[in-house]
Amino acid sequence: MALRDAKNDLLAVMTIEEIYAWDLAEVAQKAFDTLDLRHPLVAEMHHWGKLHISGKLQVLQLPKHYDFQGLRLTPAQELTKRATQEVDGVLLLHPSVGMTKPGDVDHYTRVRAYKALAAGYYDPNRILLALLPLAMRLAGPREALWHALIRRNHGANHFIVGRDHAGPGNDSTGQPFYGPYDAQELLQRYSAELGVSMVPFRELVYLPEQERYEEVSRIPSGTRTASISGTQVREQYLNQGRTLPPWFTRPEVAEILAETYPPRHRQGVCIWFTGLSGAGKSTTAEVLTVLLLEHGRQVTLLDGDVVRTHLSKGLGFSKEDRNTNIRRIGFVAAEIVQHDGVAICAAVSPYRATRNDVRNLIGSEHFVEVFVDTPLEVCETRDTKGMYAKARRGEIKDFTGIDDPYEPPAQPEVTLDTVTHTPEENARLILHYLGQHGFVRMPTGMLQNGMKI
Ligand code: ADP
Repeated sequence: MALRDAKNDLLAVMTIEEIYAWDLAEVAQKAFDTLDLRHPLVAEMHHWGKLHISGKLQVLQLPKHYDFQGLRLTPAQELTKRATQEVDGVLLLHPSVGMTKPGDVDHYTRVRAYKALAAGYYDPNRILLALLPLAMRLAGPREALWHALIRRNHGANHFIVGRDHAGPGNDSTGQPFYGPYDAQELLQRYSAELGVSMVPFRELVYLPEQERYEEVSRIPSGTRTASISGTQVREQYLNQGRTLPPWFTRPEVAEILAETYPPRHRQGVCIWFTGLSGAGKSTTAEVLTVLLLEHGRQVTLLDGDVVRTHLSKGLGFSKEDRNTNIRRIGFVAAEIVQHDGVAICAAVSPYRATRNDVRNLIGSEHFVEVFVDTPLEVCETRDTKGMYAKARRGEIKDFTGIDDPYEPPAQPEVTLDTVTHTPEENARLILHYLGQHGFVRMPTGMLQNGMKI
């Protein structure tokens, strides 16, 4: 079996020794201790094939990496470096830089931060920063064992395990998948067998009066402490363009994070209009575009009909072609949002599943679904494009609202009434929503006294 990368270059050859069926439920239970689909890997496993193969792997070349090439060391290189040091220890700072869970800091940013730390705050002879190309499985305690084993192979004899190592967050009932110190306990149990001593790190808090960190468990009650959670870092600092305090993180790291996570009003957002033909999507979207430009945002308007003249040229109006059109718009919108722009999309987008796919592609936090809730009778009376008349006469088939269903959104962020409100009123309503969520900067008075959504 040839193992190739995405560009079809041959990386390795496996001599297959075994082909075996695997049981999803069994593996999920044993490795992740859960069947909950909120677990990213359990969800992913549902897309895996029914058979697994195993056998000897003959590596012809390692995958090519173009980022941080100086830090891409093999286990052999790391061992050499380690062997030159005295026994009292060298820190192997060994971040895994593979696939991780949505919302995690990307590895480019993480590694830039580690580089800044390694260069500025450690004796260069006492630290080795190297990257581990490994996808996170988020298996908590069992992942800690696996990570320890891999580090052992890289020459480490101690392994630091923090709170909630490789945790996937909460399950569908809102409970954490694994206890915060389960990973430490499991690794402790097997550390002799693995040949790696576990160095536990407990939860630390800052003592502002003493200007130092201490373990939570060692602090007498009533002591004034400070801490900033991951969520607070994003919501109360980065999203608002506030600098993280030096007691929390080194200034170099604060700056790297601020570059990657600009304040909300410079982050991308997709405003997705959905509704029947003639509901008023394009009309409202055009007004909103101008208002957002006025507020200093960069806007791309992707109008379903306009897109058909270039991006989706040649597509027809069959169910399949219309879905393809929506997915293309969604793909482009996701790119725009990722690069901190505003994408306004106006297309009928009648199917809930397709809209949800687009939402997931973009990320729900940056997706504003606007339901233009105009009754069919009103749309049909407007009939600006003469389409309803044609559909009624049977000249066009599968027309949304006539002989093809429109599935209204279950929980749109914004719902518009175009019968009692003008396009401008509606556009300002959306602008206000965006202001409330930080995506545009508004004079504070306007937000407090403004319209209710
Ligand atoms: P869609 O993009 O949803 O197919 P359009 O915006 O192209 O719809 O067409 C909506 C039509 O309805 C336009 O001719 C517009 O002038 C008219 N219209 C009347 N009242 C409103 C309103 N309150 N909001 C939006 N459009 C309205």
